[in-house]
Amino acid sequence: MSRPVLEVSDLSIAFGGLRAVDQVTFAAERHRITTVIGPNGAGKSTLFNMISGALKPLSGTVLIDGVDMTGAAPERLKGAGLSRSFQITNLFFELTVAENLRLAAQVLEPAKRALLPIRCSTRAQAKTQAMLERFELTHKRDELAGNLSHGDQRRLEIAVCLASEPKILLLDEPTQGMSHQDTADTAKLVRSLTQDVSVLLIEHDIGLVMELSDHVVVMHQGRKLAEGPPAAVRADPQVQAAYFGH
Ligand code: ADP
Ligand code: MG
Repeated sequence: MSRPVLEVSDLSIAFGGLRAVDQVTFAAERHRITTVIGPNGAGKSTLFNMISGALKPLSGTVLIDGVDMTGAAPERLKGAGLSRSFQITNLFFELTVAENLRLAAQVLEPAKRALLPIRCSTRAQAKTQAMLERFELTHKRDELAGNLSHGDQRRLEIAVCLASEPKILLLDEPTQGMSHQDTADTAKLVRSLTQDVSVLLIEHDIGLVMELSDHVVVMHQGRKLAEGPPAAVRADPQVQAAYFGH
């Protein structure tokens, strides 16, 4: 088996006296969906923030493709192949669907050309077209992102993340606030992403976690409580007590 795309070792951070993430260790395998679950306040988003460079860990390491990226700035992490979506959307609402995608695809260009205006290269154009088709947004390409439905915005955001051809994609609650139908569509979409990338997911909907995940990491009060295949994790008495409340 090849080396995991992401290796997190003994990662910790404290806010004042609170150990929000306490010596967490896990790995994300290539072309798999690894899901982090845990009750509110367990430290999931803080863990993502450290992996994606938004917060510097107190101790521990983050390796991407075997390279030490601990505490690296978000731009450097992007260069190393890490992309993330946010609980709060990070689309440009005043740009169209196609423009949002083209901007993201620009990172595939040599640095100098990426500074040119949106007119952009054939490669970025082709990428935009492919993303529009794959995410079923072609008919909405000229709509402003701000005018899309919530479900379409979340979908576009995943497409934007994927347009830069990352190695690993971090998704923080991609189905939050979605209708039942949008949730089901997004689940299918996330599953299809593993053709191209490895996915690290935070998800609350336990049904979805069971359906989607190859590997589950359970967090509780900043610590890793358990990890393993979804069915095994769900049956774990410690997890039952801490997470499911029985
Ligand atoms: P989760 O995403 O699992 O719900 P978080 O990672 O958001 O949990 O939060 C973990 C703990 O850290 C919580 O107790 C939260 O209040 C605290 N926390 C998160 N971010 C900060 C911050 N910037 N400053 C102080 N405390 C924080
Ligand atoms: Mg969170």
